[in-house]
Amino acid sequence: MENCLFCKIINGEIPSSIVYKDDDVVAFKDINPQAPVHILVVPRKHIVSAAEKDASDGKMLSAVFSAIAKIAKENKLDNGFRIINNCGADGGQTVPHLHFHILGGRALGDKVI
Ligand code: 5GP
Ligand code: ZN
Repeated sequence: MENCLFCKIINGEIPSSIVYKDDDVVAFKDINPQAPVHILVVPRKHIVSAAEKDASDGKMLSAVFSAIAKIAKENKLDNGFRIINNCGADGGQTVPHLHFHILGGRALGDKVI
């Protein structure tokens, strides 16, 4: 997808600190970390948001959650962590390519729910 920031990171056109990659998923450090560990887990397939998921995306989503579990282990988040997906304008999404935030490395105080 042209002009998509995360597609450019996935393609290597924009540098990032990549921590994990496989056939379906790339994960890299957030440029503006909100916790000691703040990693974005991003499917290679350009999907705008969770609202755009279709029936063929099951394998990709399974890969996303397998990657999250691996990354959490590698980063020693044994005491827990938070997974966040902001979806659409009211959800506070700022980059229109589906992604999941992994936040951890400290007790995460503020909760919406
Ligand atoms: P959203 O607000 O869409 O849920 O999350 C977008 C995230 O992307 C933000 O946490 C922001 O800090 C991060 N981000 C924005 N631009 C870049 C970039 O160029 N590189 C990296 N690594 N993260 C970025
Ligand atoms: Zn994209």
